[in-house]
Amino acid sequence: PRLANQIAAGEVVERPSSVVKELLENCLDAGARRIDIDVEQGGVKLIRIRDDGWGIPEDQLPLALSRHATSKISELEDLEAVGSLGFRGEALASISSVSKLSLTSSAEGQEQGWRVQTEGRDMEAQLFPAAHPRGTTVEVRDLFFNTPARRKFLRTEKTEFGHLEEVIKRLALSRFDVGFHLRHNQRTVHQLKPAESQLERERRIAMLCGPAFIDNAVCVDVEASGLRLWGWVGLPTFSRSQADMQYFYVNGRVIRDKLVAHAVRQAYRDVLYNGRHPTFVLFLELDPTGVDVNVHPTKHEVRFRDGRNVHSFLFSTLHRVLAEVRP
Ligand code: ADP
Ligand code: MG
Repeated sequence: PRLANQIAAGEVVERPSSVVKELLENCLDAGARRIDIDVEQGGVKLIRIRDDGWGIPEDQLPLALSRHATSKISELEDLEAVGSLGFRGEALASISSVSKLSLTSSAEGQEQGWRVQTEGRDMEAQLFPAAHPRGTTVEVRDLFFNTPARRKFLRTEKTEFGHLEEVIKRLALSRFDVGFHLRHNQRTVHQLKPAESQLERERRIAMLCGPAFIDNAVCVDVEASGLRLWGWVGLPTFSRSQADMQYFYVNGRVIRDKLVAHAVRQAYRDVLYNGRHPTFVLFLELDPTGVDVNVHPTKHEVRFRDGRNVHSFLFSTLHRVLAEVRP
């Protein structure tokens, strides 16, 4: 089974940022309100993520590291309406097969915490008592220590950290209600408190995307025929273009989608901003049955049941909003 895990690990664990993505999704799935992320050497030496979610009960702790162990799908129909971010039950197994991993958790109503740890191939996942407040800490050390070929594909510390920070940014933009604290090599990079009010949200966006974006953005919040679009659209400034400042969420998940990109670009282009890259942080909300988010295993793609309706809603909404502020 370890060999299978290592092969599977290639699909999920490409680099430190993919580890962080999987671990953070687990924290959010567990209802965390505050997440601390500690990283050393771009995540290659250490990724430690602590949350205050509902934790993992003692008897389920060793299980959490085994392949296809997921607590998130109880029946097949659940697949249709998967609300949680992870549901394949292979992230922890894959990560543990290519790193030195420890999982410490204290579940609701439990007297104390427990820890399991593994070292790559070493299958023993022994259970130790451990002090831990309610919630979970996953510590991933020496990523790819036992798969030198994969290790060779890692880039510089700076590049790996950049990828990792981007993953955190994406999630932090989608969950204003959760606090994130990111430290790299013992230094705080982002300290984001839960943001409730519009002002606090915009402050978080300013911290993550730079004040230039939010200072030149218009707010959107439009609802029609079961669709809601809210967020911020950046107006072009004469500062450097930010081609990568494009965040689009469907029901809370970040996606990249041709239909969406086309509708946004079209509206942008129509209302004068010819040749400029649209910049935006936008959230589309619709009935979960109107969208299939499991088209692709990395879950960045979606398929809308009524794509034409979504396209025209996005286009007309953004067109109107941009036209209103046209100088
Ligand atoms: P999946 O998320 O697809 O279920 P994972 O391998 O990511 O699979 O996690 C396996 C299981 O471990 C989860 O289903 C969950 O029960 C448990 N788990 C992992 N991380 C956490 C966490 N931070 N808090 C609570 N439970 C967790
Ligand atoms: Mg998961």
